[in-house]
Amino acid sequence: MGGGPGGLGPLLWAAQHGRFEAWLDQGIALVERSGRLGGTLGQYGINSDSLGGSYLECLASAGWPTALQHLRHDPVTLEMERYQKSYPPLPLVNRYMGLVGLAVAEMFTGHPTSALHLHTTAQSVHLCEDGRVAVVVHGQNERPRTLVARSAVVALGGRQHWRDELAAPGLKFVDCAMRQLLSSNELLTHDGLAQANEIIGDAGDRSIVIVGGAHSAYAAAWALLQLPAAASLKDGQIVILQRRPPRIFYPDRATATADDYPFEEGDICVRTQRVNRMGGIRGHGRDIWRQIARKPNVQPESRVAVLTLQDFSATQLRVALEEAALVVPCLGYRSATMPIFDPAGQRLTLKADINGDAVDGDCRLLTADGTPLPNVFGIGLGSGFRPTQAMGCEPNFRGQANSLWMYQNDIGAVIYREIQLLAEERQTAVAA
Ligand SMILES: Cc1cc2nc3c(=O)[nH]c(=O)nc-3n(C[C@H](O)[C@H](O)[C@H](O)COP(=O)(O)OP(=O)(O)OC[C@H]3O[C@@H](n4cnc5c(N)ncnc54)[C@H](O)[C@@H]3O)c2cc1C
Repeated sequence: MGGGPGGLGPLLWAAQHGRFEAWLDQGIALVERSGRLGGTLGQYGINSDSLGGSYLECLASAGWPTALQHLRHDPVTLEMERYQKSYPPLPLVNRYMGLVGLAVAEMFTGHPTSALHLHTTAQSVHLCEDGRVAVVVHGQNERPRTLVARSAVVALGGRQHWRDELAAPGLKFVDCAMRQLLSSNELLTHDGLAQANEIIGDAGDRSIVIVGGAHSAYAAAWALLQLPAAASLKDGQIVILQRRPPRIFYPDRATATADDYPFEEGDICVRTQRVNRMGGIRGHGRDIWRQIARKPNVQPESRVAVLTLQDFSATQLRVALEEAALVVPCLGYRSATMPIFDPAGQRLTLKADINGDAVDGDCRLLTADGTPLPNVFGIGLGSGFRPTQAMGCEPNFRGQANSLWMYQNDIGAVIYREIQLLAEERQTAVAA
C-alpha cells in the first residue's frame, strides 16, 4: 500500500536481483491513492541530499529486467546523469521516480496474477484467523472492497509530529501563540518557500526561528537564505535552536580531518569507511553548516546563529517562539499509519500511532507494546528502521534510515526475504 519510493523499494530490490517477474507471477497487489507511482518528492523546492548517482545505480544492476532496460536511455535518466556526483533538484528526482514507477506499472500488465490499483486508497488492514490479511480499499467513487493476501506492506509516507513535542519541560510547541508557523515539511514546498519569502520581507527585526538540528533544520536554513527577501536579513536573524550539534557526512577520514571536523571511531561506517555515512548531514544542508561553522574555503554565513535549546528556560523559549516572525519546527518524521484490526475486530494501537518507531529490524510493524505483527511490514519515510552495521551504518548512529537507496537495497531486501519466507511457510502448510 503506497507507491512512493518506500513502496517501490522492495520491488526495485527484486528487479535488481532478477526476481521481480517471478514475484509478479506469485501475485502482488499494489495500491496507490494517486494516479501515479513514484511518490511525493516533487512538491519540495530544494535539492536532493543524495547524489544523482545513487538514484541511477539500480538501472546498472546485473539482474535488471530486459523489460525495464529502456529506462537507461530515457531523457529523464540522461538528465539525472548530469548529477551523477552532485545533488539533483527534488522535482527531477520526482520525475525520475515517476519514470521508474511508470515502467514498473507497465510490468504489472504482463502478469495477470498481479494487479495495480491506482486512484485507490487503502482504508484499513484486518488480520485474519487463518494468518492472512484483508485490506479494505476503495477507488474514486467506488464502494469499498477487500483484497486478501498472505502479507501486507504499509508504505504511506511520513507525517510530522512536532505538535506533540515538548519544546522545554512543561512547554509544548502547540501551546505557544506563534505569529507564523511553517513546519519544515510545509516550508520546503514551493508554496511554503513563497510564503516564507513574504514573511521575511515583513519581518523587520524579528527572528526566524528554526527548531531542530538535523537534516531538515539545516536544509530549511539553506532554503531560507536563497530567498530574495533573505538578502536584507541581519546578522543572527535566523536562529537555529538545536539540542545537540548535527553530525556531518564526510567521504573519508582525511577529508574530515582537513575540514577540522572532530570524529570518533564510532562515526566511521565499517563497510565504506565514510564518516557519519548514515546520520551525517549532506548536500546543501551540509554546505550551509560549513558556512555557519566558518570552515575552510567557504564564505562565512553570519545571518544564522546557532543556539542550544536547553540553555532556554520554558519562559524564555515561549517568548522567543512567540516574538519570532516565523517558527519552523524541524523535528523529523514518523510513519503515516492506517487502522489495523486484530482477528477479533479490535483496533490495535501501533507504536507509530504514539510517535515511536513503526518497525522492528525485520521491518515488521510494531504494536504500542513492541509486539511485531507477523505479516504486516512497514517501509518509507519515518518508519524508524534502524540499520545494522552490516548494512553500512556507523556504530554511533542512533537515528532512522530514510533513504531511497536504502529502500531499494538493504531495507527492500529485508522485506522481500520476509515475504518470501511467509509464502514458503504457507505452501508447506497447504502441502501438509
Ligand atoms: C524534504 C525531504 C527531502 C528528502 N530528500 C531525500 C533525498 O534527497 N534522498 C533520499 O534518499 N531521501 C530523501 N528524503 C527521505 C525519503 O526517502 C523521501 O521522503 C521518500 O519520498 C519517502 O518515500 P515514501 O514512499 O515513504 O513516501 P511518499 O513519497 O510520500 O509516498 C507515499 C505514497 O503513499 C501514497 N499513499 C498515502 N496514503 C495512502 C493510502 N491510504 N492508500 C494508498 N496510497 C497511499 C501516496 O499517494 C504516496 O504516493 C527526503 C524527505 C523529505 C521530507
